[in-house]
Amino acid sequence: MRLRVELLGVSLPVDAVDGGRSSDNSAALPTKCHECREPLATPLFCGACHALLQETVADHFAAIGIARRYEIDAADLRRRYLALSREVHPDRAAQAGLDPSAAARVSSRLNEAMRVLSDDLLRAEYLLEISGGPSATADKSVPGNVLTETLELREEIDEARHSGGAERLGAIRAQLAQQHTAAMQRVAALARQVDQGGETLKLLRAELNAIKYLRRLREEAARVEI
Ligand SMILES: [Zn+2]
Repeated sequence: MRLRVELLGVSLPVDAVDGGRSSDNSAALPTKCHECREPLATPLFCGACHALLQETVADHFAAIGIARRYEIDAADLRRRYLALSREVHPDRAAQAGLDPSAAARVSSRLNEAMRVLSDDLLRAEYLLEISGGPSATADKSVPGNVLTETLELREEIDEARHSGGAERLGAIRAQLAQQHTAAMQRVAALARQVDQGGETLKLLRAELNAIKYLRRLREEAARVEI
């Protein structure tokens, strides 16, 4: 997998991509435009000669030109996304003589990559998917006693609603927020290790499943008016 991403990699030197940290970040080998030989920031198109190179790329990370891993530099991601999007903006695309509909497809490809990569949860889910991990439909397991806890908390929310327990409800909301933070930390820790495959992917699936329960509970608790 890593090799495939390397081949579709980005133009910037590795230290510009991961801020100089030693690398693991071998996904970021330079690739050149086959039309003009200039280095590429994305395999989607060439910023130098405006050749549209390919509309499908290995993954969202490759599309934006960053290494495929959970840890991202949000500011760098945004900067790259904006720079790339500018190139395929309709005005710019027309100037450069790009086929407008192809430019629009590249643009929506970039938007989708940005939507997924900029969200911690979606990015973890996506990494799990492209690492060959189980989907939420295929594997509905959750860690430990999440189901029991969910049932108990749901009852507590109901009780607070019926008894007008504003204080209790506030405590439940705080507890849920705390659990959500802790769960996201576990997701991040596992998502950083998706390369390990196997058990790590199963554990990540379970944590992501649990977060869905947690999110629903938080929504329920938020809807209660006392
Ligand atoms: Zn070119």
